[in-house]
Amino acid sequence: MEERFADIIIDISHEKLDKTFQYIIPDELRDKVKTGSCVSVPFGKGNYLRKGYVTGLSSRAEYAPEKLKKIADVEEKSMDAEGGCIALAAWMKEQYGSTMITALKTVLPVRRKIKGIEKKSCKLLIPVQEAQELREGCANRKQTAKARLLAELIRMGELPMPLITGKLHVSAQTVKSLEKQGVLAVISENSYRNPVKISRETMDARMEAYGAKKELSPGQQEIISHILGDFDEGKRDTCLIHGITGSGKTEVYLSVIEGMVRRGRQAIVLIPEIALTYQTLLRFYARFGERVSVMNSTLSQGEKYDQWERAKKGEIDVMIGPRSALFTPFSKLGAIIIDEEHENTYKSESMPKYHARETAEKIASMQQAVVILGSATPSLEAYCRAKSGKYRLYELTDRQAGGKLPSVYTVDLREELKQGNRSIFSRKLHGLIQERLEKKEQSILFLNRRGYAGFVSCRACGFVMKCPHCDVSLSEHMGGRLVCHYCGYEHPAVKNCPECGSKYILGFRAGTQQIEEALHKEFPGARVLRMDADSTRTKDSYEEILNAFANGEADILLGTQMIVKGHDFPNVTLVGILAADLSLHINDYRAGERTFQLLTQAAGRAGRGKRAGEVVIQTYDPEHYSIVHAANQDYKGFYAEEMMYREMLLYPPAAHMLAILVASPKEEAGRGLAEEIGILLKKEWPVIGPAPASVGKIQDIFRFMIYVKHMDYRRLIEAKNTVETFLAEREGKGMAGKEAVQFDFDPMGAY
Ligand code: ADP
Ligand code: ZN
Ligand code: ZN
Repeated sequence: MEERFADIIIDISHEKLDKTFQYIIPDELRDKVKTGSCVSVPFGKGNYLRKGYVTGLSSRAEYAPEKLKKIADVEEKSMDAEGGCIALAAWMKEQYGSTMITALKTVLPVRRKIKGIEKKSCKLLIPVQEAQELREGCANRKQTAKARLLAELIRMGELPMPLITGKLHVSAQTVKSLEKQGVLAVISENSYRNPVKISRETMDARMEAYGAKKELSPGQQEIISHILGDFDEGKRDTCLIHGITGSGKTEVYLSVIEGMVRRGRQAIVLIPEIALTYQTLLRFYARFGERVSVMNSTLSQGEKYDQWERAKKGEIDVMIGPRSALFTPFSKLGAIIIDEEHENTYKSESMPKYHARETAEKIASMQQAVVILGSATPSLEAYCRAKSGKYRLYELTDRQAGGKLPSVYTVDLREELKQGNRSIFSRKLHGLIQERLEKKEQSILFLNRRGYAGFVSCRACGFVMKCPHCDVSLSEHMGGRLVCHYCGYEHPAVKNCPECGSKYILGFRAGTQQIEEALHKEFPGARVLRMDADSTRTKDSYEEILNAFANGEADILLGTQMIVKGHDFPNVTLVGILAADLSLHINDYRAGERTFQLLTQAAGRAGRGKRAGEVVIQTYDPEHYSIVHAANQDYKGFYAEEMMYREMLLYPPAAHMLAILVASPKEEAGRGLAEEIGILLKKEWPVIGPAPASVGKIQDIFRFMIYVKHMDYRRLIEAKNTVETFLAEREGKGMAGKEAVQFDFDPMGAY
């Protein structure tokens, strides 16, 4: 059927008009109007022409066609950035499932214009001689303020306004009257809010390590010239750089970007975690200076808007940030670099649940840019594509700074217990920490947990304290307070079991706070810094802690996941992994991969400087393949074993998987809808479920899951479209309740 109608979003910067309106596509525009087109349409009572974007085409009119207005014209000139956004949003909607406006908002993370900061200054307009005479006249007439201002202007030529009204005590009135006389001019200049705050001292201190351009190794050189050479030949294959930690990947990124800048192109550098911003920024700043900026959720609205504007105007070459920095509106993008490509944070947790890797490839293909992935432990997805020839694989195998790979010791905690050691530190780890303290070297201790994290259970009857709103156990925090990590529900400390009254109701004590206390007890005088979600609540706390540690203000850095990623502390020669298998016990097909990555990355923190490093892996499960391969720093061995398991069970990347979440405040309604969807899909697709999610209830909302697996991603998109159509029809019949349905392609974790 012919598509004669267009859904249009009018002037998307107005939040109130966040819905589509249907228009007729006139015959003469039939060929030009496509999804993503920028058009002008008559809108509102006055039928004024407004700009709008076509978000979808259809063959059916939602209202009587004679009531619909016609599209006036296609705005051909406005197609570039904005047009690209619409097309990208349309792609995301199709690829991942979400409403168009949500997808649009995702690709336009900066939507509000925030007035810039005006910098005012005064400039002398008349010749100095003339000004001298005027100043003397003013002095004689006792117009002291005027005389003071003139004297300074004669001396400096130009003065900032705050200095005039502040230090010089000259009123705005006085300035105005001199301006009227034509003696001076008030100039106002728009100045950008700059989120990059690096002090001179910090820069000088770090310049030595980061600033100087390194003599590149032959391996690095080869990768760089390959990537740039391919780029010049018009080849745009995604590149995967598999290089152990410290092998010089970042140095490669820097040089590739330099090459891009020479070609008049810009680059986006994605980092997995805001905590890494400062370190990354320092290195890029040392190379590119003011032409680097950052984008992330800690920025104010005004700062964000200004960075967007600077990027649009070509005032910066490099944007560093998390996922959302992908949407930076550069005019000539050359490269998108995704560092630590395997990290979970590259997958969005809200609709549309897009993955930065595929989205980057889409953006790159739209702008003729290249995507470069880097990791010491590539995701199974990326490595699988590299092996099949879809990606170009590059390898870096040696540490550049001369450091060697650390020696790794695996300690069986069950044996420790048998030997009577009940401490969280094995004898091996204890000894090595002591040694570091004596040698004044630094250690990192890693725990894959947060807070007191342990659940509280009754040793007499087995009762577990659970959140009344979510199907999860509560975690014990400082002072015995119990907290739900899904909804934030709090419960005061418990003294007696609510079930049997026993007083032996206790928490499983193995959180970072607990370990910090143990450290103080076992190593009195050791300076400990703790970094976890609790200690990094405030805006700058990540950077403060990292800086303090880098500056040698502590002997031991203790923390959760966030300390194992990417940081480069040359004085760290010991890494202790306190309970390596904790991350194996989550109900999730990626648990083995997560564990291998965490352990390998954590181990990679040791010995990044001149001194050799040592790593202690403490575990209850020393034979598990994830732990064995991590201890041997053997990625390929791990990949082979893990891939076998994925192929056997048809998990990604061996097949694709679509998770459909049905959420409802009413259990029966949710289950009913999930069953209907299941029956609908089973006609054509192999379906798993529906079943209650492993977290069956969050904030009083019941959750049911349906999984569909298929080798062909497009078949899963069709399944999603089928469900969407079904839901729209249901809505049309007025049968929809409060149920919500979400799609997640190739999910990262369990529901
Ligand atoms: P990765 O990103 O792979 O972890 P980096 O690029 O951070 O590796 O390099 C690790 C360390 O080695 C850094 O301190 C870096 O300055 C240094 N480095 C990198 N390349 C070279 C080189 N060619 N010569 C000397 N030092 C280098
Ligand atoms: Zn009890
Ligand atoms: Zn809860």
